[in-house]
Amino acid sequence: MSEIYAPVQDFPKIPDNLTVPQFLLDVNHPTRPQPPSVGTPWLIDDTSGATFGKEELRARTHGLANSLWTKYNILLVQPDYPVAIWAVHRIGGVISGANPDFTVDELAYQLEATKATFMFVYSDAQAVGTAVAAARRVNIPLSRVVLFGAASELSPESATVDELARQGLLSRETFVERRLAPGEGKTKLAFLSFSSGTTGKPKAVAIPHFSLIANVIQLAVHNRINEAYTTWEERRFRPSDVCIGVLPFYHIYGLVINLHFILFASMSIVVIPRFNFVGMLNSIAKHRVTHLMLVPPQVVLLCKHPAMATADVSSVRFIMVGAAPLTYEVTEQLIRIFPNAHIGQAYGMTETCTATTMWPIEHKRGAFGSGGQLMPGIVARVEKQDGTLAGFDEPGHLVIKTPSVTLGYADNEEATKETFVDGWVRTGDEVRIDSNKEVWVLDRLKEIMKVRGFQVAPAELEGCLLDHPDVSDACVVGIPDDFSGEVPMAFVVPAPDSAKRMQNDKKVAGQIKTSIIQHVADNKVKYKHLAGGVEFIDIIPKNPSGKLLRRVLRDKAKHLQKSR
Ligand code: AMP
Repeated sequence: MSEIYAPVQDFPKIPDNLTVPQFLLDVNHPTRPQPPSVGTPWLIDDTSGATFGKEELRARTHGLANSLWTKYNILLVQPDYPVAIWAVHRIGGVISGANPDFTVDELAYQLEATKATFMFVYSDAQAVGTAVAAARRVNIPLSRVVLFGAASELSPESATVDELARQGLLSRETFVERRLAPGEGKTKLAFLSFSSGTTGKPKAVAIPHFSLIANVIQLAVHNRINEAYTTWEERRFRPSDVCIGVLPFYHIYGLVINLHFILFASMSIVVIPRFNFVGMLNSIAKHRVTHLMLVPPQVVLLCKHPAMATADVSSVRFIMVGAAPLTYEVTEQLIRIFPNAHIGQAYGMTETCTATTMWPIEHKRGAFGSGGQLMPGIVARVEKQDGTLAGFDEPGHLVIKTPSVTLGYADNEEATKETFVDGWVRTGDEVRIDSNKEVWVLDRLKEIMKVRGFQVAPAELEGCLLDHPDVSDACVVGIPDDFSGEVPMAFVVPAPDSAKRMQNDKKVAGQIKTSIIQHVADNKVKYKHLAGGVEFIDIIPKNPSGKLLRRVLRDKAKHLQKSR
């Protein structure tokens, strides 16, 4: 069999000389719909109800860029989120989004890996506390930690984005906008987003401006957001529709699709700082939200949560799910609740700067369980174990070529060579593609777990476990979970002394397990906790070259789970 081409291969030129804010704020690409009527907001702050139109955001971006340029020299973390991203881009900097719930260790790891010299931080006490400790650890002066909300006693030297944007607009000095030479958009870095790839700890994926712009255009073409022959009724994305913003903007799905694509489509986003299901239902009713972009556990809540009995979700007419598989059964339930909505999945990854499939525009609903159809400009190969290419409906490893491809893992040539081969991305996912170019994700060949849509790298948790005095070796695997999709479970070889103490004493064994689980809870953000528990084992199975035989333990874990 041969390579499989997406149904659409021709589309307008993707600009290769623009930064993300120039593409979104300054020019009108032909795939873009008519701008919304004057006064339609781009962002709606869910808490205060304040609205921000395109021109206001553009001005704030200018002001902040000006202050950053004249007062500091730049870069990293959280929202006035898009304003901070675009201001940094305007002056030539790079953004790496981080989870505000990270522990100090996790944030410091990211700051070091990205060589960050500047931070934007949410002004809630926990996030500022973490940011200040992490900044101290990596020697970022606190004057270079800037707050999104109000000033904070925890970091008195910190300015706020609001102050800087205002001062920058009044300043006589003006920054020099970073302009790109033709073709430079393909190499000039815009983002460093984290993914573990096939194996090992989280790594910074180097994303140039062109990748994000390309994916936004691919989504626009796939969904024909600006086509005369798509009637208003048929359109999935209409100017002035309202999309919920509950996905984190530091994850690639939130950043590219929920934020940049939705603004490109001239829609409004209700910005919600922290996901809370009942709060989301209230926001849907309050702002008459038409579009939901979700991960599977949020869909499970839509199907099962008691608050749905009284919720007004009548405005919703589009639900897109991605980042992890959505099962056949849950899709069926969702359709029963929203019988008239467009519903389906998209599939993608950080390394491809997001979506590579989405359900076809011709179908109101995606085929149940399918990741969707290959998006415009994409070519796919499905490699069988013997290295030959699979035909339609045959399973194999998905390898993708997309205009939105990223540059690889920053400062990690070895991992880059493994995943990025001659312009192709080796996804680490097992799929089959049918004759309609629909991609069905069957399994994950790579190590990562997906817990509530977030990546969890076993190697990261194994490193953390080895710091515990009762642990001499460890292997972490994901076990299925109805709500989270998967949760981490650890197989642990106890240290010799601990093993002696545990012999014939179940109580001591229980105490050691609890202490190991607590150790991970103390050092890692919540979704990485060992919700699947700890099992003691005599030896971690390895091949002759010392590589963990993770699959053996994954099967054992499933077995244990059934017998619990
Ligand atoms: P991330 O880089 O965090 O977005 O993770 C990418 C990985 O998430 C992919 O390689 C898949 O393993 C998984 N993934 C993303 N979307 C889907 C989907 N719709 N169905 C199944 N797995 C998905």
